[in-house]
Parts: sequence; C-alpha cells; structure tokens
Amino acid sequence: MGGHDPAVTALLTGLVRDVPDYPKPGIVFKDITPLLGDGAAFRQVVDAFAELGRDQRVDAVVGIEARGFILAAPVAYALGVGFVPIRKEGKLPGLTHAREYALEYGEAVLEVHQDAFRPGARILVVDDVLATGGTAAAAKHLVEMAGGVVTGFAFLMELGFLGGRALIPAMPIDVLLTV
Ligand code: AMP
Repeated sequence: MGGHDPAVTALLTGLVRDVPDYPKPGIVFKDITPLLGDGAAFRQVVDAFAELGRDQRVDAVVGIEARGFILAAPVAYALGVGFVPIRKEGKLPGLTHAREYALEYGEAVLEVHQDAFRPGARILVVDDVLATGGTAAAAKHLVEMAGGVVTGFAFLMELGFLGGRALIPAMPIDVLLTV
C-alpha cells in the first residue's frame, strides 16, 4: 500500500466529510459515511487493506468498534480469514481482557474475548482513523493479552498532527489518507 494512486487518494479524500465541533467543541470529526456509501470507493479501501493482509499472511483481522467493524469485516471475508471484534466495555458476552485508554475526545475501556485467537495468530488491526494513538495501542495490548501477534495496522485516515504513531512504535502502519 506504499505509493498510492493519486486519483484514488483524491477520490477518497473527497468522500470524507469534516464535521467541526463533533462530538465535542474543538474536535473536527472525520465522517466516513459518504465514502462507505460510495461502492467504488468502499471497494478500493477494502481491496487495499486486503492486499496488506495478504502480504502479512494474517490469520485473522481485528476491527475496533464501531467504524473499524465496517472496514475490517469485508477485509476478513476477502482474505477468507476470521474477523475478531474489539468492543467497548460490557458488550462481549464471554470472558474478556480489558484495557482502559484515552482517545482524542475522551476515555473508555476496550475488551476482547480471552479465547479470540489461536496462540501466535498473526493479526491485522483495522480502524477508520488514527488520531492520538490511544485506541490503537490498547488494541495491540489486547491482542497480545489474548495470545495473538499484531503484524500491522491499517487505517483509512491518519491525523498526522496528533502524532499517534508514537504509541504503536516498531509496527507496520498503513494509511490511505493523511491530514
Ligand atoms: P485515538 O485513540 O485518539 O487515536 O482515536 C482513534 C479512535 O477514535 C478511532 O476509533 C476513531 O474512530 C476515533 N476518532 C478519534 N478522533 C477522530 C476524529 N477526529 N474523527 C473521527 N474519528 C475519530
């Protein structure tokens, strides 16, 4: 996914809508619903992430609730591997590992099922936006607690000015759009 086609970048960029002061004053929310609603664009994103997963020979794809689910599930389907949800506190019915974390606009707890992975399973973590990196770091921690190995991260968009990469050091991180 290194050098992206400028035409694809322009197409995707035009389909992410800035919503100022949502969900809090001072936050510019990156709304991906126009992109999801565009079949060609949605497919471009899923295909790019699937190529990455293929290169990394992943055993499963993790999606982070909730927008990460929308992107990760079709990637898992395309690869013919399992999809594993990392969810907000209290949503998973089985025994879980939990991790508190801070994100751009608040604090929360994420959980994963304790038996979600085979030991040593190679995992691609998918989410829509990399902002401060707290969510991604918590997801990596949870995958490891459950016995998996994160081989890489895939984000539709990175808010580069927040420096979130620093929280997931020494990790392949692929992003389709950077602002
Ligand atoms: P962070 O932990 O700060 O990297 O935040 C990343 C998580 O919060 C992702 O799951 C995003 O969906 C969401 N998020 C954070 N900031 C934004 C933003 N400006 N626009 C859209 N989603 C965001």
